[in-house]
Amino acid sequence: MPEAPAMTLDISSLNLSFGDGKRLDLPVRLEPFQLGGQTYLASPEAVGARLDASRPSGGFAFRLRFPVHLEGPCMRCLEPAALDLEVEAREVDQANTEDEELRSPYVHDDELEIGRWAHDATMLALPARLLCRPDCKGLCPVCGESLNDSDPADHEHGGSKDPRWAALDKLKLE
Ligand SMILES: [Zn+2]
Ligand SMILES: [Zn+2]
Repeated sequence: MPEAPAMTLDISSLNLSFGDGKRLDLPVRLEPFQLGGQTYLASPEAVGARLDASRPSGGFAFRLRFPVHLEGPCMRCLEPAALDLEVEAREVDQANTEDEELRSPYVHDDELEIGRWAHDATMLALPARLLCRPDCKGLCPVCGESLNDSDPADHEHGGSKDPRWAALDKLKLE
């Protein structure tokens, strides 16, 4: 039976002694991503993650790596877009410290929130714009159709002039 995708990981189940290191391959489920009002989904929603955990004195150190394939609308033309990313992130968590820098926001007692961590790490790895193609031309400002693979002449809409300016010219004449 395939292992159910993890959202959290019981750190004590790793049975790490001080100075120990362990490598774990596990499926991690990614929640949908909200970006610029659009939703992007990991496909498949469970990624095959590799977790390296070690236990330096007084805490834990984690390294997480996974490939992810994301699908959602192009941010310019809304046609389907897809993106492949290699995500890598590190976290340290020192117990008994007042230094916030040394506490991981994903570690609570014996629990590592691996799903939330993987989600945030993916967000950080995303490019500013998710496009269907690097040179996506976007939508025609007049008719709203995609300008990709279309003849620019089809979108002159009665002259290279914006029809709103044409309307203004007409007003001036009256
Ligand atoms: Zn596009
Ligand atoms: Zn048009």
